[in-house]
Amino acid sequence: MKHFISNGNRASFYLVFIQTEKNKPMADGMTCFLLERGRQGFSIGRVHDKMGERLANNAELIFQDCFFPDENRVGEVGKGFDVLARFFPSSNSYAAASILGVAVALHQKAIDWAKVRVQGGKPLIEHDGIRAQLVEMKMLIDASRSYIHRACWLADHQDQGWDKTLGALPKAMASQAAWKIATWTLEIHGGHGYMKEVGVEKLVRDAAAFLHSDGVNRTLFLKAANFMFN
Ligand SMILES: Cc1cc2nc3c(=O)[nH]c(=O)nc-3n(C[C@H](O)[C@H](O)[C@H](O)COP(=O)(O)OP(=O)(O)OC[C@H]3O[C@@H](n4cnc5c(N)ncnc54)[C@H](O)[C@@H]3O)c2cc1C
Repeated sequence: MKHFISNGNRASFYLVFIQTEKNKPMADGMTCFLLERGRQGFSIGRVHDKMGERLANNAELIFQDCFFPDENRVGEVGKGFDVLARFFPSSNSYAAASILGVAVALHQKAIDWAKVRVQGGKPLIEHDGIRAQLVEMKMLIDASRSYIHRACWLADHQDQGWDKTLGALPKAMASQAAWKIATWTLEIHGGHGYMKEVGVEKLVRDAAAFLHSDGVNRTLFLKAANFMFN
């Protein structure tokens, strides 16, 4: 069984990585196969009831005596990692760009609210502490966006200095930025932020998704460390 597969309940085709040489480490002994929906032994389990990012479904894929014929093989036997490696350079940036959108939406909400909410005799946006916070949010968004752009460009031009950590870190950076911006936006809204009608809590739930999705950030740091030091 594999949990949490994004749109797993909707897909018609799946790429499945199977350990075909059991004595070898995962990266050496796996083979990639194309799986068609409806194949005998393959079924879809629960669709998870998620906290946020609820327009994307995440489902369980269940395999029970499911046979994959050789004609469904993608790439060479035992070389599944090579197939996966083709997606690596861009998939982290794709996730990073998704969470960056949540950060931008939160930031805009914080600015809009700070303009209309009057406290201490003037709009929040005229208070130094709030102004500085709003600008720090912009800095986090701009820096994350630049990092994503750089990773995307180098993924397409790998001979210009592609560095494997760019396949792990942009999502970690953007999701950390989004999470900080989410909690600050909640704070700037005061009690209103906690109320569903204002729409901040929905974005806070969405912001949490990419702390784990596409790899837990802590494990992405470990992965990048392996790229750097091994
Ligand atoms: C919204 C969402 C969408 C997803 N979509 C997909 C998808 O489309 N396809 C797909 O294949 N998967 C998908 N996933 C799964 C996702 O990739 C995994 O949940 C994620 O990689 C973490 O794995 P895990 O849940 O098994 O956590 P675990 O690996 O059990 O991690 C739990 C904790 O242990 C820590 N940890 C793990 N290993 C180590 C270690 N070696 N040393 C120290 N600490 C460690 C982690 O950092 C984390 O804090 C999705 C998950 C979510 C939440």
